[in-house]
Amino acid sequence: MTVLKLLGTVLPAGEQQELHLSSGLVVDRPTAADVTTVHSGGWIVPGLVDAHCHIGLDQHGAVDTDVQEQQAIVDRDAGALLVRDAGSAADTRWIDDREDLPKIIRAGRHIARSKRYIRHYGWEIEPEELVAYVEQEARRGDGWVKLVGDWIDREAGDLTPCWPADALTAAIARAHELNARVTAHVFGEHALPDLLAAGIDCIEHGTGLEPDMLAQMADHGVAVVPTLIQLENFPEYAEQAAAKFPVYSAHMRDLYERRLRRLRDAFAAGVPVYAGTDAGGVLGHGLVAQEIQALTEIGMSGEQALAAGSWAARAWLGAPSELRPGDPADLVVYDEDPRANPAVLTHPRLIALRGQVLLRR
Ligand SMILES: [Zn+2]
Repeated sequence: MTVLKLLGTVLPAGEQQELHLSSGLVVDRPTAADVTTVHSGGWIVPGLVDAHCHIGLDQHGAVDTDVQEQQAIVDRDAGALLVRDAGSAADTRWIDDREDLPKIIRAGRHIARSKRYIRHYGWEIEPEELVAYVEQEARRGDGWVKLVGDWIDREAGDLTPCWPADALTAAIARAHELNARVTAHVFGEHALPDLLAAGIDCIEHGTGLEPDMLAQMADHGVAVVPTLIQLENFPEYAEQAAAKFPVYSAHMRDLYERRLRRLRDAFAAGVPVYAGTDAGGVLGHGLVAQEIQALTEIGMSGEQALAAGSWAARAWLGAPSELRPGDPADLVVYDEDPRANPAVLTHPRLIALRGQVLLRR
């Protein structure tokens, strides 16, 4: 049996430690085995998490398996070894059989209201179909369902909620019966009260969070994945819509201007915040390190931001999070302490996935 050994400061504990990897797992120090030291020094972090990623999508919809593979490799080489896929129109199940590609926790396909989302992305349905579609995607996914909670309503000329409260209540209750959590894309303010009242588990983007919602979210552990890099596109969306939909345009601009303050208030109130890039639609893949760095703009310390893109996010998603014996050997090594200097996250020194060293610089 070959055992790989790494020596370094292991996070989150922060202690100098030897880590032994064998058969895909972290193992106890072996007594009789060939031990190969693969790295010595630096900081060893449980594999990064991109909690909002779309493998299998580009701006036009589903992509073929070659492109899916490229997307997954780019995410992996950025250190994202666990991905929560927040909706994909493509079937990416084949990736589960590939030892060298990130682990994916899927939310099935986006569930959107008819004509109220990006074309070719989601199921586009009416409220009376919501429970049935949630049921279907809960069965297809890996414990999550993704709703589009608000989107531009061209008749109203603004963002409006996509679903009535009773449909949300029934659909989210059904998902929970099937042991699936539900998350929703929400840019604005108005869709949030009904989603929260219906028991939603997570909000994507969260640019419309109001102070009176935060205590309830913190109490119920309703998380936010802000996708801060993606929010930088809001001014462009506002610009593009200015002539035809001036109210929407002004609303997007206002959401953009308030975003850091609102997300900062949410984190300060105890709402769990996790790192997600929204790669795959407009944005490219492989940006998890930059997203973790961006989280420091909403009042998170370097350590809190890293936790939000590593061990805390793993625990939230139900994955082993601390590189203890028996845990999967999914880790990233950096030359400097990424808690003190998050910029080092863009320069992984070594990446091991399922115990295999896949990248070494
Ligand atoms: Zn997304």
